[in-house]
Amino acid sequence: LIQLYIPMNFLGVLYREVKQSLADLDKMFALLEREREVADAPGARDLQVAGATLRFEDVGFAYDPSRPILQGLSFEVPAGQTVAVVGPSGAGKSTLARLIYRFYDVQAGRITIDGQDIAHVTQDSLRRSIGIVPQDTVLFNDTIEYNIAYGRAGATRAQVEAAAKAAHIHDFIVAQPLGYDTVVGERGLKLSGGEKQRVAIARTLLKDPPIMIFDEATSALDSANERAIQAELKNASRGKTTLVIAHRLSTVVDAHEILVMEAGHIVERGSHAVLLAQGGRYARMWQLQHAAQDRREPHALSST
Ligand code: ADP
Ligand code: MG
Repeated sequence: LIQLYIPMNFLGVLYREVKQSLADLDKMFALLEREREVADAPGARDLQVAGATLRFEDVGFAYDPSRPILQGLSFEVPAGQTVAVVGPSGAGKSTLARLIYRFYDVQAGRITIDGQDIAHVTQDSLRRSIGIVPQDTVLFNDTIEYNIAYGRAGATRAQVEAAAKAAHIHDFIVAQPLGYDTVVGERGLKLSGGEKQRVAIARTLLKDPPIMIFDEATSALDSANERAIQAELKNASRGKTTLVIAHRLSTVVDAHEILVMEAGHIVERGSHAVLLAQGGRYARMWQLQHAAQDRREPHALSST
């Protein structure tokens, strides 16, 4: 009976609210589903990080058993070094990042950190040790401050601001009427791809973990911003075990090793100089990018 007195426009609002929260529920279940795929092994211990040497040992993986993605993949990121991964889209580069963070378990071989199989340690301890700037950042429906501080419990506002400044997102945040208390995400302020990426970069800089993964972390930024933030990332990852998945080769020149991936395999590997001298795929990619860059910004040539 009471329902008869509810005005129609209120029902409209209610309907939209319910629809919105259903969308959130969907996402939550999707996350839970994913969490269920990987569970802590019985008696799993916390990861003990010393230097944080990361190894892929003969790793095989498929999202769908009928379609293998990675096969017999082996490489090492020595403690405190940077390894870069390049290659065409669909090669399996982001899959490496997802496996290290253990969104999925490998089906063959193993991934170790300081000799410990990541499938045998607690997910909490694993994820505390790793910071990822993913290709596509999903933000929580919460304040900007929460979104940056997430991953480092007890961070102060000053620390959050310092990270935001390094990620070149501070000025944008303080220009909002509610500043760091601005709610972002689906039910708040919508951020552009580049703004979301900078929030994710700030989050990782603040978390300051021993292992960092940048998955095309600056791909949505304009080239001036990209150059400035690349410098910050390089600084932050100095002395840390770092995997850089790069779309722009200028960011991989100094890597300890560069892996060129195609269709789930490493087809070339070595330092920048060695790969250039080989005159193979990497050398061709390098020439193509430089030709494109020369056309776009000839004045910047001398600095690259
Ligand atoms: P890259 O980052 O090099 O572009 P990805 O690692 O994202 O490549 O993807 C490698 C392959 O795995 C692609 O063929 C892609 O279509 C497939 N793939 C990626 N994510 C999923 C998924 N969640 N389910 C099924 N296939 C996927
Ligand atoms: Mg990718």
